[in-house]
Amino acid sequence: MSTPCLLPPIPPINPIKKISPTRFIELKSCYLKGVWGSNNYPPLLPASPHAIIGKVIHEIMEYVGKGNLEINESSESFDEKWNSCIKREETKLTNSWFEKHLTPLSTSVKNYDEKKELCRLTVESSFKYKNQNIVKYKPSVPIKCELWLRTHDKICVGKADCVKVSDSFVEIVDYKSTETVDPKKLKEYSIQLKLYCALYHETYGTWPSSLKVMLINNKQIEVRFTKEECENLLKDTKKTFFEVNDIISTVSETKNLMSKLASPSPEACHFCDFRPVCTPYWEERKSSPKELWPSDLKGKLVRKKPWGKKRVYIEVEMENKEMVKVVDLLPERHPALEILNYEIAIFSLNKNKKNPRIFHEGQLTVVYLTP
Ligand code: SF4
Repeated sequence: MSTPCLLPPIPPINPIKKISPTRFIELKSCYLKGVWGSNNYPPLLPASPHAIIGKVIHEIMEYVGKGNLEINESSESFDEKWNSCIKREETKLTNSWFEKHLTPLSTSVKNYDEKKELCRLTVESSFKYKNQNIVKYKPSVPIKCELWLRTHDKICVGKADCVKVSDSFVEIVDYKSTETVDPKKLKEYSIQLKLYCALYHETYGTWPSSLKVMLINNKQIEVRFTKEECENLLKDTKKTFFEVNDIISTVSETKNLMSKLASPSPEACHFCDFRPVCTPYWEERKSSPKELWPSDLKGKLVRKKPWGKKRVYIEVEMENKEMVKVVDLLPERHPALEILNYEIAIFSLNKNKKNPRIFHEGQLTVVYLTP
């Protein structure tokens, strides 16, 4: 049996070296998630194709912002850039045992063509055509893209997507690859932008005058701020940095340290790639089973049978001896199902609406053999 599907050991927990606005938000939801992310521990669950395409769109928007993309009527340059980004992401997916089924992205991403065209329109609207000649985007004010900002002590660092600078005006723009943004997300984006604002002030000694979130459809959302709230956020970020590292340096036993750092909740854990190795997550969901936890389960694989022509279904005996069924599984995606009577853990299943003991394979479902 191939073994990449064997659950890896609990990763080491090392002090964090710096903290970015994005990491700050992550640490606020769960210290343990933020620390493992900061320690560059590789994700144990697949990236969502939606997030991957978002990354590509974000990269292209930044590229355009820098004035690096030339375009003509046939949009050849856009297609070239798009295809090279997609190819790079697909190569990464192909090299991952639990993500290779997500290629090609044109199939796994919902409304792929629509997203691509929306991105093309955004790019095109950034250009001015003159007699069908190739025109390069010329920003009306100097623009700095992917600008690194940091505090003097180098503890808080961040890379701003785009900063427009003139003699009397500094605007920080954060690109987002969606067409809309819900209030909760907007709150997160606002915190990030306010932190960039404070970091810009620390780096250059000037306060920005405007903060904006720019969506894929060119919609801009102004984020209002005061210098005081930006400064307070920066203080809070540093406080979090020291607090986290204090816990790491004072608690030596790993299990204990994990419990001290973890804040398991359906909301935080749902988007966490470290669920497979997170003991506090499993403990918490056991103690509050009525919460809306991610559709994961653990147990012994007791039966595997065909499900239609190409798929299989399995029966799993849970710790409490309850039997559950997982149907519609593509066996080539799940090497862990090759041998019966092994303990397995299955992540990101789809629930059956009628029967709570039946689950379906989802796009991001992964099965690990648990030692
Ligand atoms: S699974 Fe939950 S508790 Fe564990 S690290 Fe992730 S967010 Fe934190």
